[in-house]
Amino acid sequence: MPHEDCIFCKIINGDIPSAKVYEDEDVYAFLDISQVTKGHTLIIPKTHVKNIYETPNDIAGKLFERVPVIANAIKKAFNPKGMNLINNNESFADQSVFHLHIHLIPRYDETDGYKLRWETHSDEYTQEQLQDISKSISNHLD
Ligand code: AMP
Ligand code: ZN
Repeated sequence: MPHEDCIFCKIINGDIPSAKVYEDEDVYAFLDISQVTKGHTLIIPKTHVKNIYETPNDIAGKLFERVPVIANAIKKAFNPKGMNLINNNESFADQSVFHLHIHLIPRYDETDGYKLRWETHSDEYTQEQLQDISKSISNHLD
């Protein structure tokens, strides 16, 4: 069911124009209007799901299965030096459209418009602490 007021559902339905890259019965891919770098593409499931937390396995499978196809098409089109896949979940993590989407951002050089750097904290954890953390997570796998 399309979600009322969801711009990505409206894009899928054709109510809002988009630069379509790919479409099949399960997914839709189109250019991100911000074009962080040339060819910046979003791939979304046709079923409205808010973000990764609310995504059933079958929808996730169909979505991620198509990611390499789109990535390779961008690679062939523009010959980038690399590609970043980004998926933001919840406002705090910069999600601004609440319909699940994966960003495919081809990378050309240091000044291509993409900036994401993170710190390493590997020297702050012992093996035991890492084991505790991994157990805290794996205890909650359904
Ligand atoms: P996020 O911040 O991860 O939720 O990403 C949402 C993305 O949707 C942003 O990068 C926007 O540029 C993009 N976006 C919003 N509206 C449109 C639109 N009408 N067509 C294409 N991309 C859009
Ligand atoms: Zn939607």
